[in-house]
Amino acid sequence: MRRAMIGLILSLTVVLFSNFVFDESSLKKAFVESVIDNETFIAIVDGNKIKVKLLGVDVEDWTMNYYGAQALKLLQQTINKIVYLEFDNAVVTSDVEVFAYVWLELPNTIQEQGKTYVTQEEISSKMLNALLIVNGLAYPEPLFAGLKYIKVFEGLEKYARTNLIGVWKNYYAPPRVSVFVTPSLGYYHVSTCPLLQTINWSFIADYLDAQAMGYKPCPLCRPKK
Ligand SMILES: [Zn+2]
Repeated sequence: MRRAMIGLILSLTVVLFSNFVFDESSLKKAFVESVIDNETFIAIVDGNKIKVKLLGVDVEDWTMNYYGAQALKLLQQTINKIVYLEFDNAVVTSDVEVFAYVWLELPNTIQEQGKTYVTQEEISSKMLNALLIVNGLAYPEPLFAGLKYIKVFEGLEKYARTNLIGVWKNYYAPPRVSVFVTPSLGYYHVSTCPLLQTINWSFIADYLDAQAMGYKPCPLCRPKK
């Protein structure tokens, strides 16, 4: 997963080029305590517990499909870790709930004429919001006008779309065979499986994606394998 991601990011260099003024001292260190859904987590900041929502992205619904489940996994990797929150002047935040860009690690910066900048490469490799988009698990969401990184996000979406990454793969090449996944059993099923009447399925996926996630064909309904 990590290696694939880095591969993607390297090839982005050709596409993107702008740098952004960056103030590292304005970042807030946060300890991620838990994940609520694939856009929201609970973190400890300056000793206070706050709800953090990912800014500028609309993430696939984790209850409904494979890509949403992948996005949730990416968020869950931050649990018990330190991240760095960057706020946007375009958004007013409260003491208990904030919208933020979430840096998984501090980006490398460059100095030019007395100013500090961060490159698009750093953004697309170290900022969670951007990683979700470039992996085809989320879309840019200009919910607030004038977001600092929205143009980068749009560029990353274009990249993911052009290269059929994540949701874009299904968008242009619909699932070959959709199956219903029950993670508690470790199986995937056809829609008519009797087990689905007693156990709720979590998401629908292409059978090959379900296999790639480690799920086995249900021995009762015998879906495609
Ligand atoms: Zn079944």
